[in-house]
Amino acid sequence: MSAAATTTTDTTASTSPLMPTYPPAAVTFTRGRGTRLWDVDGKEYLDLLGGLAVTALGHSHPAVAEALAAQAQTLLHTSNLFGTVPGLEVARTLDRLLGGGGQVFFTNSGAEANECAIKLARRWGGRGKHVVVSALGSFHGRTLATLHATGQPQKWEAFQPLPEGFRHVAWNDLEALESAIDPSVAAILLEPVQGEGGVNPATAEYFGGVRKLCDERGLLFVVDEVQTGLGRTGEWFGHQHFGVVPDVVTMAKALGNGVPIGACWAKADVAAAFEPGDHATTYGGQPLAAAAARAVLGVMEEIDAPAQAREAGAKLTQVLEADPHVAEVRGLGLLLAAQLNDGIDAREVAAAALGRGLVVNAVTPTALRLAPSLLITDDDLADAGARLAQAFADVEAAS
Ligand code: PLP
Repeated sequence: MSAAATTTTDTTASTSPLMPTYPPAAVTFTRGRGTRLWDVDGKEYLDLLGGLAVTALGHSHPAVAEALAAQAQTLLHTSNLFGTVPGLEVARTLDRLLGGGGQVFFTNSGAEANECAIKLARRWGGRGKHVVVSALGSFHGRTLATLHATGQPQKWEAFQPLPEGFRHVAWNDLEALESAIDPSVAAILLEPVQGEGGVNPATAEYFGGVRKLCDERGLLFVVDEVQTGLGRTGEWFGHQHFGVVPDVVTMAKALGNGVPIGACWAKADVAAAFEPGDHATTYGGQPLAAAAARAVLGVMEEIDAPAQAREAGAKLTQVLEADPHVAEVRGLGLLLAAQLNDGIDAREVAAAALGRGLVVNAVTPTALRLAPSLLITDDDLADAGARLAQAFADVEAAS
């Protein structure tokens, strides 16, 4: 490797120009196409992580690349003081996929989409009715408010004091949720599948019960679909598995297939709690990101993204279950976790897999997360099974 290449890709803690919020990167990728990535040395990888459930249509999808290039040559940015065409079209499509009757606020990330939902819940609830109840094990973002909404105290303890008004209850436990409700509560915020928390799906009984509880107590049901939204779980949105209609839905990740864009959708009567000036963003929904999202949604509807996720998810489950090191496979559609047999360290397996040209991540110390492109092929899946078997063998050989 040349000296210049070493300098530009070196992320070891002492010499990196980047803050040490992530461990030093083991690999630097320079190119991607479909389910494949290539690193600085030209080594090819099969990507089963999809940039953390983002690249649902695979890397460098031509429709997205073409939309970006065309929009970049047409209009990049005007601010949200003015109308732009692609954003309106994306908002209409999202509203249709969510059943209609809602309005959208665009953001640049999932955390910002949840910030919007939290602010909307506070505006809707009014003074004194502002608390958001979320679940232990949840993940909602890294801004101070979404961090406090996140039900993982180890992630926020060091950053106190945090914005107040957040309460956490046991996951999938309706009684625990009910006993946390008092007149100060405005909203319940839940993921259909806890992604970062280990790929733990909600039950239909739980989501149905939460909807009923919200109706009875006059609360908003806010569903965080940042990781689960847009086909990944086998429905357009994860909550659609459970037959409920939320009041507010947030999304991001797959919406831009790698271009930063998120959205907070709310039923129109809830969205009406916001007045001009209550919330804003310079970049959210700007033409370049919205053009990418418009292309993504166009392709997703054309290929029936939820059906792709269902079919490929069932096949990937079979591949994983066939490996004797996997104790259990959980998740929905193509958002899966492989729980490993006792004594196997998922972090060691993920590192060994990378060595074998397979990108997965250890979502917990004992489980691997898989969130590949919805367009993954049967050949890719067979390849994934073989590379994973090699990775397990490498870990065994090293112990
Ligand atoms: N909500 C959920 C369910 C997520 O999985 C994530 C990110 O992983 C977020 C929110 C935060 O999204 P972002 O990293 O785009 O801010």
